[in-house]
Amino acid sequence: MPAAEPVPAPEHVAVIGAGMVGLATAWFLQERGVRVTVLDRVGVAAGASWGNAGWLTPGITTPLPEPAVLRYGLRALLSPSSPVYVPPRADPRLLRFLTSFARHSTQSKWRAAMAAYIPMNRRAFEAYDALTAGGVGSETYEAKSFMAAYRTEAERSVLLDELGHIRAAGQEIEFDVLTGAEAREVEPSLADAVGAAIRLHGQRFVNPGQYMHGLAEAVRARGATIVTGADVVDVRDEGGAVRVVTADGADDRYDATVLATGTWLGVLARRYGVRTVVQAGRGYSFSVPIEHLPAGPVYFPAQRVACTPLGDRLRVAGMMEFRSAEAPLDPRRIRAITEAARPLLRGADLDARTDEWVGSRPCTPDGLPLIGRTGSPRVFAAGGHGMWGITLGPLTGELLAEQITTGRQPAELRPFDPLR
Ligand SMILES: Cc1cc2nc3c(=O)[nH]c(=O)nc-3n(C[C@H](O)[C@H](O)[C@H](O)COP(=O)(O)OP(=O)(O)OC[C@H]3O[C@@H](n4cnc5c(N)ncnc54)[C@H](O)[C@@H]3O)c2cc1C
Repeated sequence: MPAAEPVPAPEHVAVIGAGMVGLATAWFLQERGVRVTVLDRVGVAAGASWGNAGWLTPGITTPLPEPAVLRYGLRALLSPSSPVYVPPRADPRLLRFLTSFARHSTQSKWRAAMAAYIPMNRRAFEAYDALTAGGVGSETYEAKSFMAAYRTEAERSVLLDELGHIRAAGQEIEFDVLTGAEAREVEPSLADAVGAAIRLHGQRFVNPGQYMHGLAEAVRARGATIVTGADVVDVRDEGGAVRVVTADGADDRYDATVLATGTWLGVLARRYGVRTVVQAGRGYSFSVPIEHLPAGPVYFPAQRVACTPLGDRLRVAGMMEFRSAEAPLDPRRIRAITEAARPLLRGADLDARTDEWVGSRPCTPDGLPLIGRTGSPRVFAAGGHGMWGITLGPLTGELLAEQITTGRQPAELRPFDPLR
């Protein structure tokens, strides 16, 4: 496919995938006057965009591969109760991913990837505000407190070091260093076992399921059809149009298409030159009642457990399980999160769990998303955000819509070129 082939701005675009990234792209395309059809093989927020922690935290949005992963070591990865899990019999594709991931877990690679994130992080809230100003009814909440809590000061030093690196890289983040007692005064839901904490400022959160349905409603209200049960099995650039074929035999033509299929991005994108592996980094969540609902997210970094107040319950999320997105929910992981959180939360009934869920973070070995034109001028990729697709989904949609309609790659997207 010739790289410089000029194509007119598309009038009708098919967005495949109704997660945060797909729906935000659809909305910002509509903002630019483009007609959109969204197709999802299940429905709105059927993938990772439902049961995640809902943090909008550009202040700590950093590349996943980092030197601590290497220090953490393979031994920890192989234990079923470890917060990061790799099956003992990894297939060759997963081994390739892990080898490349380890190669990217160096200080200098982290710094380079961080430099790519910073311009995105700077504009992340602006894109959310544009959605709100444009009539999207879903709410975003200021995190009145955002508490990272630890048993000991020694455990806390890991995040303090990381915050130092984040600031040195040019990312703005304000925080206070608190004792356990000071943290409990702000957040009475923390148990006595918490002996040290860091309070982050200036971050937000959403109720992801609610947010996604509000966004879907706004996209529909602007005239899009969201086709559910549409399993896209083939995307064919015929020169002048793209054919999108579904498993049930629908076969329609569009001027362009956006592949926003989350952890499954590679399936349709590979034939258009996208070689970066997108691997499922599976996470689990559930929600529980709690006496004092925290005023914002609570994070237990040593246990890798993320908690978020959603309505009148607390969502508790965690685990990074590198295995097939299709594998069933493993109840041992739910138990591991429950037991990790139990000593650290006060007044939470961790045995009254509902909404037990597993979903796949779309992870790339270099920790960078894939956003932009593929080898075809009519096929665009949008995904691979790993841990940060909720924080960066709206801005991804805004910048990609600009690229699709103008033919010019916004500077922020250069490091995320899907053909890298
Ligand atoms: C436990 C957990 C906690 C997290 N916490 C946060 C957080 O606090 N903040 C944050 O920013 N991020 C967080 N994330 C990451 C975030 O959830 C993801 O990065 C984001 O949801 C990815 O969105 P997406 O639209 O790319 O993919 P998805 O939401 O997975 O959507 C992809 C969609 O594509 C559809 N699809 C796939 N293949 C096809 C096909 N062939 N045809 C039709 N449809 C198809 C799927 O059905 C799905 O609906 C978390 C993730 C997990 C698992």
